[in-house]
Amino acid sequence: MDNWILMGPRTLNNQPQGEQTLSPEQVKVKVTHVLLSNFDALCYSGELPVAYPKTVGRFAIGLVTECGDKVYGVEKGERVFIKGARPCGKCLHCRRGDADNCEHVQIAGIDFDGFLRDFVTCDYRRVAVLPAGVDDIHGLCIEHVAFAENIYDQLKLSAGSKVAVVGGNALALVVAQVAMYHKLVPVVIDESAAALEKFRRAGVYYTVPADDELEKNIAEATSGMGCDAAIYISCSKIDPDIASRVLARDKTLVLEGMASLRFKLDSIPLFRHNTRVIAVTDGFGYTESAINMILHGAIDLDIFEREIITEYDPSAILNAKLSDLSHDSKMTIVKLIF
Ligand SMILES: [Zn+2]
Repeated sequence: MDNWILMGPRTLNNQPQGEQTLSPEQVKVKVTHVLLSNFDALCYSGELPVAYPKTVGRFAIGLVTECGDKVYGVEKGERVFIKGARPCGKCLHCRRGDADNCEHVQIAGIDFDGFLRDFVTCDYRRVAVLPAGVDDIHGLCIEHVAFAENIYDQLKLSAGSKVAVVGGNALALVVAQVAMYHKLVPVVIDESAAALEKFRRAGVYYTVPADDELEKNIAEATSGMGCDAAIYISCSKIDPDIASRVLARDKTLVLEGMASLRFKLDSIPLFRHNTRVIAVTDGFGYTESAINMILHGAIDLDIFEREIITEYDPSAILNAKLSDLSHDSKMTIVKLIF
């Protein structure tokens, strides 16, 4: 029985799982698929602050094999998405029974054990049943869509607003599509012509190279007004100050941090433009709306190249991801056979 535990930077051990006892409000889930992503790669490299030891794997789905006596809405045999973001259970909101407003949302792989293991036993509220119309691969993208929903909920923009997306990786592709779903107009900025072409294929009209012509191109795309919001994809490795250069005055800059890299931001242009800066690190609270969007085909998730593997060496996969952080062009999915 597999359980891939990160003991320290670049030290991943497979330690068989012991028997797990089930409390009345818990479900036992046989993990069937895990998406290994940039986030997991940065946990592996030590760039993200993991509370070692922790099992890796933030994005997973599985089959319910057992339910406690006080489990509602989840049944044995159902396919479920295992939520990678959970309430802490300790803050004032959590203790008052208002976990939706938890102040210290916990992330799988950093704060609690992730899912690259055969079985996960957890509170039944930490899983979401997958409708038949959401296939396994799409199910693995739920947190990405939830993440984008979280961003747009905070931006509160009106239809037609221009949103700069700085960075051209897989999450950016979801963010841009969710923008279009909300009738916003994404303006995607990246250094790679191949990445920008992928966005055009996904229906994004404004794709702008991050080069010397940037300001001129943004002026053309926004009729000289500048963008109404900017979302900086933090593992894109693009100069983050580009985001503030394309914004109009009194707008919002979102620092996207699903797989956050450390970077420095110049404060002067932010002050000059009276920019509001917010950070988003998870899709906590948006799982159900993300499932609905995927179910209704609002987002094309088949645009990603994918590889599904059953024989795997997680260290090698995560090492390879580290060299392709800014464009993570391929979904790497581990299928766990039991
Ligand atoms: Zn809490």
